[in-house]
Amino acid sequence: MGEKLVITIDGPSGAGKSTVSRALAGRLSYIYLDTGALYRAVAYAVVKERISPGDKGCLLNLLRRTKIFLRNTDGRVKIFVNDEDVTEKIKTEEIGLLASKVSAIPFVRETLLSIQREVAKGGSIVAEGRDMGTVVFPDADYKFFLDASVEERVRRRYNELEAKGTRREYHEVERDLLIRDRQDRERKTAPLRVPQDAFIIDSTDMTVSEVVEKMVTIVHTT
Ligand code: C5P
Repeated sequence: MGEKLVITIDGPSGAGKSTVSRALAGRLSYIYLDTGALYRAVAYAVVKERISPGDKGCLLNLLRRTKIFLRNTDGRVKIFVNDEDVTEKIKTEEIGLLASKVSAIPFVRETLLSIQREVAKGGSIVAEGRDMGTVVFPDADYKFFLDASVEERVRRRYNELEAKGTRREYHEVERDLLIRDRQDRERKTAPLRVPQDAFIIDSTDMTVSEVVEKMVTIVHTT
């Protein structure tokens, strides 16, 4: 495949976007852009600087003086807040929830928009998030919307946390996922939506490789 395509994958938490996007990018030798990490990086800076996320003035000031950037190191994209590598530190449930909260603020989204478009300007990219096909890359070559039932998404998230050694009650995982779903779908700016021309894939009863195969087939045949 000689073209340098822009492929977007949107969907709710726990639908398997990260795993699938990384695998698809690997399969096509493309860059993998995890845009959730950018919102998590903002949330991380908010916690570190002890800023109230509701205080718009402080938040704007924080964004102006904080450098958030991605760096490709040995084939892995790492995320930095100023000079601190936060790639692993931002993967907690707390940061995820706060990221969802700050991501509803329009100037936060505007600030991160240019970073995302800059990374994708050469094409050959799989971009994952909530507004990839709707707002950030409306002209993407292929758009996917990856979904799964709530039960399956909670189960996956629970297992993921357990594998990392994080003890969480099942009902807490379910509660946090539903809060995030609601925040992401109901916000006014760039809410989670199925892009108009997206291929919808329900991964509830599918393995990661089945989903990736399906995407590769679509990219090669349509
Ligand atoms: O995908 P991830 O769980 O890392 O994303 C964290 C949060 O960042 C999401 O719940 C969502 O609110 C926000 N986000 C977003 N737009 C994106 C990617 C993530 O609003 N493109």
